[in-house]
Amino acid sequence: MSKKVIVLGAGITGVTTAWFLRQAGFEVSVVDRQESPAQETSFANGGQVSVSHPEPWANPSAPWVALRWLGRADAPLKWQPRFDWAQWQWIARFLRECLPWRTRRNTAAIAALAVHSLSELRRLRQAAGIAEEAYDARARGILHLFFERASFRQAQTRVGELAHFGIELRSLTAEQCAQTEPALAACVSRLAGGLYAPHDESGDAMRFSQALAEALAANGVRFHYGAHIERLCASGGRIGGIDIRRANAVETLSADAFVVCLASDGRRLLRPIGENVPIFPLKGYSMTAPIRDAACAPQMSLTDESRRIVCSRLGNRLRVAGTAELNDDSLTIDPARIAAMQEWVELRLPGAIDPGNVTPWAGLRPMMPGGVPVIGRGHHANLWFNTGHGTLGWTLSCGSASVLAALMRGERPVVQFPVWGG
Ligand SMILES: Cc1cc2nc3c(=O)[nH]c(=O)nc-3n(C[C@H](O)[C@H](O)[C@H](O)COP(=O)(O)OP(=O)(O)OC[C@H]3O[C@@H](n4cnc5c(N)ncnc54)[C@H](O)[C@@H]3O)c2cc1C
Repeated sequence: MSKKVIVLGAGITGVTTAWFLRQAGFEVSVVDRQESPAQETSFANGGQVSVSHPEPWANPSAPWVALRWLGRADAPLKWQPRFDWAQWQWIARFLRECLPWRTRRNTAAIAALAVHSLSELRRLRQAAGIAEEAYDARARGILHLFFERASFRQAQTRVGELAHFGIELRSLTAEQCAQTEPALAACVSRLAGGLYAPHDESGDAMRFSQALAEALAANGVRFHYGAHIERLCASGGRIGGIDIRRANAVETLSADAFVVCLASDGRRLLRPIGENVPIFPLKGYSMTAPIRDAACAPQMSLTDESRRIVCSRLGNRLRVAGTAELNDDSLTIDPARIAAMQEWVELRLPGAIDPGNVTPWAGLRPMMPGGVPVIGRGHHANLWFNTGHGTLGWTLSCGSASVLAALMRGERPVVQFPVWGG
């Protein structure tokens, strides 16, 4: 008889987990408080499948960059100290992960997972029958743009470092950037250069999640939507069930094993049962607008390294995303953040979008201090984690889910990865 597994959360990590577990022969159900998949952090992210950016935000230069930006209204990073023990504890852990050897170790783990993830994404697409058009996918690479000469010079070392992990990155002059991506014509004179990752992709993570959920439902996976998980019922070193609330009724769902894919909300549910997973919400914003002039919109995904902004063309829409706020776990939208992204489009890609038709969004990245997701087992024998993907959840989702499925089958994963609890 196959083992029954409940996946907690139907974001990008939850649906990909369900897929790999189903493929591995488990009987799978998925529970989510929303009425359809990917309605929270996976809803309107930057769209990048960015294998070429494995270096975590916790790196030796991060504390100095953060200090330089402190107090600036247009800073991509905003932090307001508050009386919150969890926040201070998380910052202390983040600073420890900025040590050079820890950054090297974390980068290697993320790079290995990212490379594996891209090949698993391509395999999944075929096996599940998800057409690239279904989620506005583009396999044209990501071009990292540098507008400061010094940072472009420094970034050259990445080419060799990433080659070591099997990731191709080409260094381009400003003119070569504009030849590779003609939509950059308007800003080529200010550009110092770029690094082009030809094998990266982009696409709408929410549409992908929805297409995958349809394929899963057709494959016998049961979805419980509108179900708010209130409690994990622990006893005798195991999880017996989860209490879910739908409308005013509470019921308990039981299974042989449970996988937590709950992003930032997971911490709240895990703490009472003694599972300490140091995920902290890091707020970010995006704006999506219809493309007005196709010739002015980029064909490939872009990362502006000086402003920490990413931009992806999703069908006939342009998505721009960025900023990190450590002071706010509400989803309130600060209009100044959206205006800054609009200005960015006007400056770098003038004429690309219809500025009067912008859809703003905010989401909470589920951040681990070192940027390495939590994949593995908790203290409770039948409790598993695939969560804490921070800035790279879309990029790493298929790889993480395949690693988790291997672990749950008692097999050794094909990638070298620091397994949680293992
Ligand atoms: C501005 C921004 C830009 C980004 N850009 C990129 C990018 O370009 N590329 C990339 O790879 N990553 C990007 N990311 C990161 C990526 O979006 C996240 O890492 C990813 O979406 C996390 O997926 P998840 O499934 O863990 O979380 P979610 O998508 O939030 O899924 C968690 C699910 O759990 C459910 N849930 C939570 N609590 C409960 C509960 N108590 N009961 C029931 N259900 C519950 C929620 O409803 C939700 O559906 C970006 C993030 C942001 C904010």
